[in-house]
Amino acid sequence: MNERTHHFEVVVVGAGPAGLAAACEAAENGRRTALVDDTPWLGGQIWRGRQAHPTLPQAARWVERFKRTKAVLLDQCAVLGPGGNRILLAEHPSGPRQIEWERLILATGARELFLPFPGWTLPGNFGPGGLQSLAKHGWPVAGKRIVLAGSGPLLLAVGAGLRKMGANVISINEQAPLSRLISFGAGLFRWPSKLAQAARLKWTLRGTPFRGGAWPVAAQGAEQVRAVTLTDGRRQWTEECDLLACGFGLVPNVELPLALGCQLDNDFVRVDACQASSVAGIYCAGELTGIGGADAALVEGRIAGLAASGNHDAARPWVARCASWRRFSDALGSTFALREEVASLAAAETLVCRCEDVRFDRLKSFACWRDAKLQTRCGMGTCQGRVCGAAARILFGWGMESVRPPVLPGRVESLCQDEDKRISCTPKTTDG
Ligand SMILES: Cc1cc2nc3c(=O)[nH]c(=O)nc-3n(C[C@H](O)[C@H](O)[C@H](O)COP(=O)(O)OP(=O)(O)OC[C@H]3O[C@@H](n4cnc5c(N)ncnc54)[C@H](O)[C@@H]3O)c2cc1C
Repeated sequence: MNERTHHFEVVVVGAGPAGLAAACEAAENGRRTALVDDTPWLGGQIWRGRQAHPTLPQAARWVERFKRTKAVLLDQCAVLGPGGNRILLAEHPSGPRQIEWERLILATGARELFLPFPGWTLPGNFGPGGLQSLAKHGWPVAGKRIVLAGSGPLLLAVGAGLRKMGANVISINEQAPLSRLISFGAGLFRWPSKLAQAARLKWTLRGTPFRGGAWPVAAQGAEQVRAVTLTDGRRQWTEECDLLACGFGLVPNVELPLALGCQLDNDFVRVDACQASSVAGIYCAGELTGIGGADAALVEGRIAGLAASGNHDAARPWVARCASWRRFSDALGSTFALREEVASLAAAETLVCRCEDVRFDRLKSFACWRDAKLQTRCGMGTCQGRVCGAAARILFGWGMESVRPPVLPGRVESLCQDEDKRISCTPKTTDG
């Protein structure tokens, strides 16, 4: 075997909290480990390479810990899909890559769920996480009037973050009924770190109207969002704004696990107590297995890294802790379950697939996702159904029957690679 065909014992895809923790554990347990991520930073959606930020000591600890290991970091490297027996096809700006694995840990996280309503495609309407990402990377929000709407704890986190950056957060509108939010809040004492986080967010957001049981019905504006109409099911009102941040929670990025044959359970990857999926040698951790936040992702990542290294004894205490985070994830799921009304906000002419300009009334006549795709090209554009596919599931109850690589947009040459281009296990650090 020459140097170019060396494989890694453990390959981790995704450098968010789950993947970072998994890679640290695997490398510290003596496994030749690679951590692969399509972004140029460590830390995934929540930390985004800002580990030097004074409010993020946990991020700094994990990144420092990772840097002390011998793990190889392959950043800016998008994994496009399986490429044969225990090989991943990937793409780096400098060219195609093949990554060979013995044990694979998938920690590809989640994305925001967008549901169509009249005006949702107007410029100035963002996902809350997307808007926050732009702001974290320097896009100016100071003084902007922002309405937040949709569902999930991310609304509060984003609202607080935007306020700290000087935005004028007009209101936060959560579709879940207030009664459910109150009983969720009352049960938070079981997860003290979350209780403290919620209290901090509420303090930062003091004075900002927060409404439970309220959701958007339309966004208005000629070339840009200028106002949003909201409802609580009894009455409607309109709020003027410069930006709307609307997302209905998170959906797991299960395309890669699906392409590798992993089974799902209620839309998340099915794993056992050691994070092993239904496919031998493949483990999954973080938002892929349930939406539970960064603390849960870290614990799952640790378990996956230890289990993939064969150190099941060390994983045991974390398995016990994980049970508590699974209960937290279940509580999130039932609290922020979507109400029926948000699945019927689209008007006949509202775009559902904005890559291919497919309207709601075109889709209504089809029985399944496959038929709709074949007849309308819905889901066949740049996002490959990552936005409209998730929406169609809520709107029409359509499941995704299969996944075809590439799971992320990639070049044809990256999908037709020969064996010579496999990544070698040259220690440290960035893949150039
Ligand atoms: C847009 C957004 C913003 C968020 N902001 C916050 C926040 O401010 N506060 C908060 O508490 N929670 C936030 N969350 C939730 C947060 O992401 C989770 O709670 C937690 O961090 C998940 O960790 P993870 O490791 O499972 O996934 P992530 O942190 O999402 O990490 C997954 C990583 O995998 C990479 N990846 C995915 N697919 C591939 C592929 N095919 N090839 C290579 N790399 C790939 C992604 O680029 C990403 O870096 C946000 C979520 C989203 C979607």
